Amino acid sequence: MDALFQSILYPSELKALISYKLNQVKPSITIPNKNNSNDMLYYFLNKTSRSFAAVIQTLHPELRNATCVFYLVLRALDTIEDDMTIPLPRKTELLHSFHELTMKDGWNFHENGPDEKDALLLKDYQIVIKELKALDPKYQKIIVDIAKQMGHGMAEFVNGKQVNSLEDFNLYCHYVAGLVGLGLTGLFAESGLESPSLGKETYLANEMGLFLQKVNILKDFLADMKEGRLFWPKSIWSIYVAPGAGPEDLAKPENRLNALACLNNLCANALEHVPNCLEYLSKLEDPSIFHFAAIPQVMALATFDLFYNNYELFSQGKKKIRKGLTVKLIQKATDMESLKQIYFDYAIKISQKCRSQLGKNPKDESFMRISTSCANVNISNFITCRQSNGFKFMIRK
Ligand code: MG
Repeated sequence: MDALFQSILYPSELKALISYKLNQVKPSITIPNKNNSNDMLYYFLNKTSRSFAAVIQTLHPELRNATCVFYLVLRALDTIEDDMTIPLPRKTELLHSFHELTMKDGWNFHENGPDEKDALLLKDYQIVIKELKALDPKYQKIIVDIAKQMGHGMAEFVNGKQVNSLEDFNLYCHYVAGLVGLGLTGLFAESGLESPSLGKETYLANEMGLFLQKVNILKDFLADMKEGRLFWPKSIWSIYVAPGAGPEDLAKPENRLNALACLNNLCANALEHVPNCLEYLSKLEDPSIFHFAAIPQVMALATFDLFYNNYELFSQGKKKIRKGLTVKLIQKATDMESLKQIYFDYAIKISQKCRSQLGKNPKDESFMRISTSCANVNISNFITCRQSNGFKFMIRK
């Protein structure tokens, strides 16, 4: 009822919510058969990420198991990285060898701290290994290779590498999210559902992950500060606090304008990835892959629109997108034409916000960069050509 109430002023969201409620399918696996490792795989998926579990249902059956295994392997790796109760030498050893452990029959892990919410996945990890080994070797190779690169990258940051420069920021985001984009792109290309040439789009695939990760890192400012970690690059936040002060000073009410200028500086940085994300999505041919890849991107763009130039990020923490808007975006992001409309609307909205702020905050120098990214996203930069067989491609003007 709350979701309907929040969308009361948005008729298109109400319509989307009502059709969603009427057509809602309950998850099929509530009590899994413990002897069926495939059942267990989807049980773990529902336990660790409801949103990803929903998105994966939309994917072509050829890719569903491989993508589910890929997600769970990386979720397990991340559970080790995040657990502050594992001693550093042990954690480092695990991160470096995870790509081997993930192929070792019967391996599981019981050393997570008591508060680790995904410890269950590692306790029965032999099931994921079994399902990984049941995949076509072409998928196994991609999953293991990405786990190797990600584990080594995480170990670098766990062992003292800091997010100081923008290069560090991009590198960290590459390890934890860009590599996911690369892995998924590899799976898509190998499936035969996409052109093999998609596998060569490594730059664009990385950009997809970078945008998603930067949105997460920006919106989590308060939550991460509370946990004593922050992934905002020091070379940027240090411009906006007194010499020697820490990033927590951004949340002090007297630093309001500095905090907003810092946020918008990093928003400008994140938004620069968006035209490339749109270009990546325009290269996808299979409708189920398109929908799967587009959903997180439009959700991230909607989240970006919520916190860009919004001081509540520092005073109240992250805000959630209305459920009605989520449902509307998911229902709409099914083809390139509709997607371009979503991007166009957000580009207009964000550039209007940007223009309305001009001259109001002398510390904020992000105007040109935000405006340029919005213009690059703008629908007028693209002409969509539709061939008679329905195959779509895009060329820049
Ligand atoms: Mg992590």
